[in-house]
Amino acid sequence: MRRRSFCKLLGSLAAGSLVHGVTETHAALFRSPVTTNRLRPPGAVAEEDFVGRCIRCGRCVESCPYRCITMLDIRQGVHAGTPLIAVEQIPCYLCMKCVKVCPTGTLRPVAQEDTRMGTAVINTFTCAAWAGVALCRTCYDVCPFKGRAIALHELLPKVVPEACTGCGLCTHACPVTMDNGLKAINIEPPTEGSRS
Ligand code: SF4
Ligand code: SF4
Ligand code: SF4
Repeated sequence: MRRRSFCKLLGSLAAGSLVHGVTETHAALFRSPVTTNRLRPPGAVAEEDFVGRCIRCGRCVESCPYRCITMLDIRQGVHAGTPLIAVEQIPCYLCMKCVKVCPTGTLRPVAQEDTRMGTAVINTFTCAAWAGVALCRTCYDVCPFKGRAIALHELLPKVVPEACTGCGLCTHACPVTMDNGLKAINIEPPTEGSRS
C-alpha cells in the first residue's frame, strides 16, 4: 500500500474509533443504574421518569434507619444524586419512612405488601437446597411474607412472583455468594408497569 493511502486508512480508523468511544461514553451517561440487586426504593415511579422527577434532595437517604439507600455519585451521569439500594449489602426492611419524606412524589406511598421493587429469582444451579448439598431454607425463613412471596415445596424454596416485594431480605441472607457477587437468590428489577 502506498504511504499516502496507508495514512488515510489509519486516519479513518482513528476517527471511527473516536466516534465509537464518544457514542459509548454518551450512552453510559444515560444508562440506568437499575439492574440485578440494584434497585430504587419502594414506591418509585417508572425508571424512565425517575431521573426527571427526583430533585436529588437526599431526604430518602437520610430517613432510612437501616442506611440501605445510597446516593449515586457523578460516575452515574444523569443519574448522579438519585437513590439506589444494593440489596445484597443492605436490603430494604419496608419501614416505609423514605416514601413519607419524598417531596416530589418520585417515591409514592405504597403499602408494604404492595411494594414491587423487583422480583426474587432463585438460581436452581447454585442454590444449596436445589443443588441437593444442604437443607437450606434461609430465604424462606427471613422473608417478611413467608408462605406468600416464597413457599416451600418438598423442602425446596419457590418464589411466588405475584407476592414478592423485591425487598431483598432473602438475597442479603442467602449464604451462597458467587465469584461475580451474585447470590443464589437475586432480585431482578421490575418490568414496565409492574413497579410500585
Ligand atoms: S422503606 Fe425503610 S428500609 Fe426501605 S429504603 Fe425506605 S427507609 Fe429504607
Ligand atoms: S421472596 Fe425475598 S424479595 Fe420477595 S418478599 Fe420475600 S424476602 Fe422479599
Ligand atoms: S438462602 Fe440461598 S442457598 Fe438457601 S435455599 Fe434460599 S436461595 Fe437456596
